[in-house]
Amino acid sequence: MSAEFLTILGSTGSIGEQTLQTLKLLPGEWCVNFLTTNSRIDILERQAREFKPQGVAIADADAYRQFKKNTSFKGEILCGNEGIAAVAADSKNTILVSALVGFAGAMPTLAAIRAGYVRRIALANKESLVSAGCIIMPEARKKQIEILPIDSEHSAILQCLRGEDYEEVEKIILTASGGPFRERPAETFGAIRPEDALRHPTWNMGAKITIDSSTLMNKGFEVIEAFWLFDFPPEKIDVIIHPQSIVHSLVQFRDGSMKAQLGAPDMRVPIAHALAYPSHVTSDFPRLNLLENHELKFYAPDYDKFPCLRHAYYCLEKGGTYSAVLNAANEIAAQLFLENKIRFTDIPRLISEAVEPHNSIENPSIEDITEIDSATREIILKTEAR
Ligand code: NAD
Ligand code: MG
Repeated sequence: MSAEFLTILGSTGSIGEQTLQTLKLLPGEWCVNFLTTNSRIDILERQAREFKPQGVAIADADAYRQFKKNTSFKGEILCGNEGIAAVAADSKNTILVSALVGFAGAMPTLAAIRAGYVRRIALANKESLVSAGCIIMPEARKKQIEILPIDSEHSAILQCLRGEDYEEVEKIILTASGGPFRERPAETFGAIRPEDALRHPTWNMGAKITIDSSTLMNKGFEVIEAFWLFDFPPEKIDVIIHPQSIVHSLVQFRDGSMKAQLGAPDMRVPIAHALAYPSHVTSDFPRLNLLENHELKFYAPDYDKFPCLRHAYYCLEKGGTYSAVLNAANEIAAQLFLENKIRFTDIPRLISEAVEPHNSIENPSIEDITEIDSATREIILKTEAR
């Protein structure tokens, strides 16, 4: 077996770091080709020393200059969005881990597909599918590049669907922890502070996805992600609240049979599976002990309390560029909330105000999507600054 050359977009983030932790478990020889960060050059420096990549790319210009001045790293050092896109498209890459956060992940992911060297993209960056799934998926299919999910729910669905006839699937059911405010009365949501929302009950993740989990926007994005990855219509994609995060998702077949994938909540499991697919690697990750008083509970989602989930279904049904607006509006709203500039309840409101008047483009180009993304951000920032 020839060596795999791995590039990780967003190697300094939560998924990026955990990806590097799984490398020693993977069968065969793995070479780290490029690592990238926005501005966490301290972490990048440590990773470069340990994994000796061919090069690194740093999006932020100041961080790039600082790194270049102080580092002992001898490999290539690239800068800016162009640098990130260039390493994604590098001709040596066989596997790309797409783990940037937000729409910033869409262009480099697409650059890798268009360059056509990678065999597989292990995708954590769900926002790129939410905004630009209509471009990314068909282009990847045309180039025969596999897009495999890192997201735990989609990894579960992938495993449940293995060897099955998609025609026999009645629906897929994505589980959601429900976030930290599942039981909190909706009347008190206006008083939620960023630090409350950053306390996720079962997963330890980057700040943006933790906020998205608390609003259930993350689950809405995952519905759209499932649509693009598995090609089921919205009415065949359900969401169910499961606070324990033990059942990672389920598939229901036309005879009433259901398959589920279970495990301790640990992102290294789906990461390693996406890299080694179809293999399950040997690991010492924590085992789920079913005898340890594991009560599995399931509840219907409350769409009135968490309108972001409804917004996601709405945008998916409408198609075109609606989901690009959804993503951009959420990205800015989540950021403003984290900066204490708006209230928690303003997040779904701002999204709805952006989505409502949208003039959608059918069959958009990536340029159309990028333009809509920027325009949506600008409008929200302008209205909120007033
Ligand atoms: P994170 O904030 O911990 O890391 C994000 C990474 O992207 C960092 O390396 C950062 O330097 C880089 N980055 C951020 N903005 C950038 C920009 N503009 N240009 C270039 N690089 C940039 O985020 P995370 O929790 O690792 O999440 C990454 C992605 O994976 C997200 O799309 C998230 O929804 C998805 N995801 C995460 C988890 C999880 O457990 N963390 C689970 C499922 C899916
Ligand atoms: Mg998930």
